Amino acid sequence: MRKLTGQKIVVATHNKGKLEEFAQLLKPYGVTAVSAGELGLPEPAETENTFVGNARIKAQSAMQATGLIALSDDSGLCVEALDGEPGVYTADWAGPDRDWTRAMRLVEEKLQARHATTPDHRRAEFVCTLCVLWPDGEERIFEGKAHGHLTWPPRGQLGHGYDPMFVPLGETRTFAELDPAEKNKISHRAAALESLVRDLF
Ligand code: IMP
Repeated sequence: MRKLTGQKIVVATHNKGKLEEFAQLLKPYGVTAVSAGELGLPEPAETENTFVGNARIKAQSAMQATGLIALSDDSGLCVEALDGEPGVYTADWAGPDRDWTRAMRLVEEKLQARHATTPDHRRAEFVCTLCVLWPDGEERIFEGKAHGHLTWPPRGQLGHGYDPMFVPLGETRTFAELDPAEKNKISHRAAALESLVRDLF
């Protein structure tokens, strides 16, 4: 069984926040992480229509450019009443200037058009898919989810993206009202990383 302990890996992201999160988690295991962003690697287009497909594109691109084991992630918000939308297009709904207020309003308009007013009708989940790819082509996929419902109007100043309208299961506060340490215990990314750690360390 393959392990990551003591390895040098490339984290296939240009997002400093994500790199920091991964680096913190991997440090106790002696893993050294450099990122695609730090190395100036190009950002590949996410042309697949699944989280796994897009995570794989990012991992392949970083692995081929460096010859290192690559770790990538792809994530998004899936709304039950919208048949899983925005899903892999979660970032796209914010438009080219990444306007998250606009993205949240779009989700809300679509929910209202479907008369989704109760928390039960407004169920949603954040999904995070991780891909670890070795230079010889071996691949491992891990998935984590955070279940909850969408509230309106948005509440809270913390977090990012759709956090102000997402209330995780068992909470009354939105992700944007939880401090980062609290969110990181129950987030989709934490859940996916937990299964990666169980399997690869
Ligand atoms: P990607 O994984 O970088 O492709 O980005 C997916 C998009 O999903 C992000 O741009 C965010 O808008 C959204 N997203 C992913 N995780 C979270 C989260 O924890 N809170 C809020 N939005 C998120």
